[in-house]
Amino acid sequence: MKRYNLPVGGIEVVIPGDYKPKQKLDHTTTKRIKPARPASAATAAASPHKHLRYIATRTLLLTCGLATLGNIPVYSMINSPEEGKILNLATQLDNNSPAQVMKDLNLPAVAVESFSGYAVDVLPDARQGNWIMRSVESEDTLETIISKLELSKTAKALLENSNIQQELKDLKTGAHILVQIVDDQLLQLIYAKGKTNAYIVSATDEGYAGKWESEAFAMADSRIAFTVKHSLQKDGKAAGLSNSVIRQISQVFHKDMDFRKGVKVGDKVGVIFEDFRYQGESIYTDKILAAEYTSRKNTWQRIRFTLEDGKTDYFRPDGDSELKRTAFDRKPIEGGRMSSGFGMRRHPVFGLRKAHAGTDFAAPRGTPIHATADGSVKFLGRQGGYGNVVELRHRNGITTLYGHMSAFKEGLGSGEKVTRGDVIGYVGSTGTSTGNHVHYEFRINGEPQNPMTADLPEVGIMSATEMRKFKNFASSMTQQLADLRKLASLDKPLKDQSGG
Ligand SMILES: [Zn+2]
Repeated sequence: MKRYNLPVGGIEVVIPGDYKPKQKLDHTTTKRIKPARPASAATAAASPHKHLRYIATRTLLLTCGLATLGNIPVYSMINSPEEGKILNLATQLDNNSPAQVMKDLNLPAVAVESFSGYAVDVLPDARQGNWIMRSVESEDTLETIISKLELSKTAKALLENSNIQQELKDLKTGAHILVQIVDDQLLQLIYAKGKTNAYIVSATDEGYAGKWESEAFAMADSRIAFTVKHSLQKDGKAAGLSNSVIRQISQVFHKDMDFRKGVKVGDKVGVIFEDFRYQGESIYTDKILAAEYTSRKNTWQRIRFTLEDGKTDYFRPDGDSELKRTAFDRKPIEGGRMSSGFGMRRHPVFGLRKAHAGTDFAAPRGTPIHATADGSVKFLGRQGGYGNVVELRHRNGITTLYGHMSAFKEGLGSGEKVTRGDVIGYVGSTGTSTGNHVHYEFRINGEPQNPMTADLPEVGIMSATEMRKFKNFASSMTQQLADLRKLASLDKPLKDQSGG
């Protein structure tokens, strides 16, 4: 096989190996068109230049196909290398239907190996209708994602396409799926596996077709800066922000300022946000990654960050004061009913008035019991009225105790480290107990405190690893925000509007 590049919209034609042209195939311009001899089906079939005719015909068919798709001129001509004559392909088409020409020339079925060219990839216009975005969750399939969109019958046709099903069989958790909906019909679907690598499904006349693309789609971090001249909404829009991003600005800074009253002419805004681009258009703007708001007196910055537990928030890059949370959960189980509080009570078994050193939560046998804070196992085993009990040691002289367990967490032993939220055992009714519940104690230096009301120590909201990651990300973002601020400063507020 040899490959020759014909200058027809970048189309590559593959020719069987036994064909050797005497000169390179050449493209001629319209100015050089000479009246050409129409080639009838009979002479074509009898021609010794079968291969040339073959190429010519395939090129012609392709050209016509491309021409109908637009932007390719139909003036494709090639020189006959032997006779120096020009075949006018258009004339040939007039005389013979493409199917007839193919048949008469007795073309080998496998001679043409491949075609490639941009014009084949005509996709529906990205600017129609609405784009929506879904993030793939761990259990998601193409079907669950599409069924949630509640579209008309088009979605079903897409799901019945076995090629598409095959390509999108295993969706990557966290990947994005963008769907273009026009008049309640699914026009295109983009499965963004990487920053630019995407599988693109589009509606065609013969149902849906899908293919992998590495250039049509891109996930980008877009940056926009502007100075407020009229309102956040109006100037943000003029600067090119979507309504969604403008709305997010006030949410990002809700702890810093009140956007209903605080916006003044001359304030500067800089935002960095996730932008999905397709066919050169921004089709969907997602979350703000970082933002800065500068008023006359203050500059606020907020950086988006997702903690290891999956919670996402906008943090101040230097905001150590707010990067804290209580070190303990109040309850060791999810749900459950508080069946007995802390303090004096009539003992349910002995009938005596006695101080209750903890809080009881009734829950079905087997309900998982969680460590309420980071710590280590101080004791695990049977202990009189507590039945099966786990005692954890924490920082600052604090210990917690979990009683009446039906079972311990398998493999958990004395001295072992536990992380807040780890399962340490299961609800039961061992020891002195009248029903399934967990007895939870919170002690400071050995003194039981009310677990529901005790002052809880605070810890940094981020682990050391998270803090390192956050600081790295934040420093890159603050640098970009500073650049954006300079940009916004060039955009002076209107004089007659200032002074608000
Ligand atoms: Zn109790």
